[in-house]
Amino acid sequence: MPSLLLRNADVLVTMDAERREIAGGGVYVEDNRIVAVGAPDALPGTADAVIELAGHVLLPGLVNTHHHMYQTLTRAVPAAQDADLFGWLRALYPIWARLTPEMVGVSTRTAMAELMLSGCTTSSDHLYVFPNGCRLDDAIEAADAIGMRFHAARGAMSVGESQGGLPPDGLVEDEAAILADTRRLIERWHDPARFAMRRIVVAPCSPFSVSRGLMRDAAALARAYGVSLHTHLAENQSDVEYSRAQFGMSPAEYAADLGFVGHDVWHAHCVKLDAPGIALFARTGTGVAHCPCSNMRLASGIAPVPRMRRAGVAVGLGVDGSASNDGGTLLGEARQAMLLARVGHGPAAMTAREALEVATLGGARVLNRDDIGALAPGMAADLVAFDLTGLETAGALHDPVAALVFCAPQRVALSVIDGRVVVREGRLVTLDARALAARHNALAARLVRGES
Ligand SMILES: [Zn+2]
Repeated sequence: MPSLLLRNADVLVTMDAERREIAGGGVYVEDNRIVAVGAPDALPGTADAVIELAGHVLLPGLVNTHHHMYQTLTRAVPAAQDADLFGWLRALYPIWARLTPEMVGVSTRTAMAELMLSGCTTSSDHLYVFPNGCRLDDAIEAADAIGMRFHAARGAMSVGESQGGLPPDGLVEDEAAILADTRRLIERWHDPARFAMRRIVVAPCSPFSVSRGLMRDAAALARAYGVSLHTHLAENQSDVEYSRAQFGMSPAEYAADLGFVGHDVWHAHCVKLDAPGIALFARTGTGVAHCPCSNMRLASGIAPVPRMRRAGVAVGLGVDGSASNDGGTLLGEARQAMLLARVGHGPAAMTAREALEVATLGGARVLNRDDIGALAPGMAADLVAFDLTGLETAGALHDPVAALVFCAPQRVALSVIDGRVVVREGRLVTLDARALAARHNALAARLVRGES
């Protein structure tokens, strides 16, 4: 089996149980599995491929727990630049109704390329609009092509405007068809094994676009197959008010009522999760995808992340959809998580190392995985290295690990996913980024202008 040796990093950040940081450390990989981690004397002298990492920090690949990759086609759309969540959605729904299968494939590649160049090796994506023959398979095939570890969430909307929901009637699906397609996807693509590159997630979009019945049926379906559940929850004050008016419950109470709690469930945002909700999530192992940029962009508020973490809630990071960020850099998201926690809760609310922990181990826990998020023997070979010899970190090398979060977000120099080098010297090796951006821009123009 092929072996790979990464060695002599300025600092190796393990995120192992002792949170060891090893000067001059490295990692030895066989096939897709980490075999040895540590100082040079703990590693073999050579391998089929050897990469020298002097001048770099080497760490576990970052994990993105919430995204809507198709939205990379609708970044910075003028009508949606300055709205809150519901206004933003109403401006974008009619545009998204023109999405095509090619657009899903190309936008997924673009979003994944951007994530991979910012240190991300595993991502979830929540696709919840399926007009014009679009299928989740279009996104999964794109992930296979670019080589990213992927948790593909089959989203859905079933309550249109005429039924009191937010989306236009033309963008919602029949509930029986949603469940049948979700079942098909699990049977076709889901891999429950360790080191899986593809998992399917059952993910009705949000309480304001899906019926109570579909939420319950979705939870039952996920549990029957042993797959995870995901949705949006308590994103802003209007979301909480909708929950109280429609269901007579707080968002957390509604989630519990539907069966949307447990170690196999994670919710995006939770900006307005109340104290009983935090206690419920901690008790049940329910995870949270924290999306600081999106929460600032839509003025949703400041999520109580330090309180959640103190209570024991699993918190990971999400860049969220690229129409509400509008960037998909995960290292940048870790930085924003640290900064926003401080704005909301004081200067000691989150350290740089805690931000990196949320971005790695936190994300792994949220996705219900024990094989990614740390560098240790027996873990999947997902690793990234950042070059510290450039301008961005000049003057910050007294603490290279903190520099990754405090200084301007960088591009990754090296990325290995499942034992395969996918970024080398800052360039994607699995696709041509310039050609991809050109095709993406052409499709985005067609989508937003409505030209056929
Ligand atoms: Zn979202």
